[in-house]
Amino acid sequence: MGFFNKLNKGLKKTRDNMSGAINSALYGKNEIDDEFYDDLEEILIMADVGVNTAEEIVSRLRDAVFKKNLHRAKDVQEEIKNIVSDILSGGEEVDMITIPSVILVIGVNGVGKTTSIGKLAAMFKSEGKKVILGAADTFRAAAIDQLEIWAERAGVDIVKHKEGADPAAVVYDTIEAGKARNADIIICDTAGRLHNKKNLMEELSKIYRIMDRQLPYADREILLVLDATTGQNAIQQAKEFMEAAEVTGIILTKLDGTAKGGVVLAIKNDLKVPVKFTGVGEGIDDMRAFVPKDFAESLFSEKTKDEDD
Ligand code: GDP
Ligand code: MG
Repeated sequence: MGFFNKLNKGLKKTRDNMSGAINSALYGKNEIDDEFYDDLEEILIMADVGVNTAEEIVSRLRDAVFKKNLHRAKDVQEEIKNIVSDILSGGEEVDMITIPSVILVIGVNGVGKTTSIGKLAAMFKSEGKKVILGAADTFRAAAIDQLEIWAERAGVDIVKHKEGADPAAVVYDTIEAGKARNADIIICDTAGRLHNKKNLMEELSKIYRIMDRQLPYADREILLVLDATTGQNAIQQAKEFMEAAEVTGIILTKLDGTAKGGVVLAIKNDLKVPVKFTGVGEGIDDMRAFVPKDFAESLFSEKTKDEDD
């Protein structure tokens, strides 16, 4: 299945919840009236778009409907799609130009960090890049084993220490191994404990210092993983992480299992941090770079052939 169809399929629940409801609200209307705008705002908030962003979309739509003199439901839908695409656009590019470049993956337990790293490794490898993984989630032995399985699956190298080892030391060794083996991309996993912001901050600053020292000129991404199924809670989580850590982008996972995919708009518009990758399944091919236009298209597209499968 092509990725666009996979994305389409993955977003089905969100699409039914959001654009399906919008279509119903528009159905049989001869005029785009206040009742519709109220319905639209409510639908967007229910889809976890967030209050501010829902208000912004409605207000931009009102302007467009007035200025362009729109009447037909189809034109209004198209206009909503354009507004959503516009809100989602900007900053999503991932510049991994330097050799090596480094990605640090952070986030709470269970959001999909390790799985996303496996998928990213496979994705970069398929682009012809040499990837090396660092198992810096040393909190549990199982976490190291899990990353090792993903490294095997993706066919990439991994650097690991024993359970309980200093995560920063793992990052150090991974960077050194990456340099020695001419890796293009170094990706490090981390533990997901956020029970104590001070600890997290200290642990991450130690890792940043090592990255600064060992790879001062390297392109760097600090990607925060958020689980789309948690809706507005993901926003709260992101706020806490952004207070403790520098975050350059979001990996939004589990879009396939949720009707709360509208949270992507709140992330971009309220948090002002770009979504860079999306996960739409547990398989190795279920991750792609975030393309706002495709995403908006999928949120509002009609049924595709693959959905009949
Ligand atoms: P971590 O604790 O943040 O490292 O999370 P894991 O990578 O261990 O993932 C936790 C669970 O979420 C696993 O069962 C994964 O298979 C699942 N998962 C991760 N990404 C996705 C996704 O995009 N879609 C679905 N449906 N499940 C996912
Ligand atoms: Mg993990």
